[in-house]
Amino acid sequence: MTWIEGRFEENVVTTSLEQAINWAKQSSIWPMTFGLACCAIEMMATGASRFDIDRFGAGAFRATPRQADLMIVAGTVTHKMASRVRRLWEQMPDPKYVIAMGACTIGGGPYFKYGYHVVKGVDLVVPVDVYVPGCPPRPEALLEGLMRIQDKIKAQKLTKGTPSVLPVPHHSGYVQ
Ligand code: SF4
Repeated sequence: MTWIEGRFEENVVTTSLEQAINWAKQSSIWPMTFGLACCAIEMMATGASRFDIDRFGAGAFRATPRQADLMIVAGTVTHKMASRVRRLWEQMPDPKYVIAMGACTIGGGPYFKYGYHVVKGVDLVVPVDVYVPGCPPRPEALLEGLMRIQDKIKAQKLTKGTPSVLPVPHHSGYVQ
């Protein structure tokens, strides 16, 4: 078997099924085409050639929640929009992830004190996995958030999966 000696290390990669599946999943995230306000401009820039979100396998923005597994909430979530955000999230298949992009999305931002029309944090509406602060966050920051989502996927257990329970408090008023 001298012909095989020394070739095994070079040509064979061993892994677990879990790692292989997670590697595939983290490299093919499909975000939903979805923008609410000015932060969405930076999200669009992230998808353009200068910042090139395709490097992370996440450039296939989908026009329907049923084909998406990442919701980037980019912009001001108004009370009128909140139930739509919730519905879109519910229509996404599991496992699914949410990035809260920008100060408005995270906690109301400049509307925190006087913005009667603005939800003070999208995590009152949908469960958030990663928060990306800024007003607006730069594309590099959104890419950093995307990498944190990839870290979460990498650590997922096949047996447990992502809980599809709805941990958002029902008193929030946005659950219909
Ligand atoms: Fe606009 Fe700033 Fe709010 Fe983003 S955080 S939607 S940039 S006001």
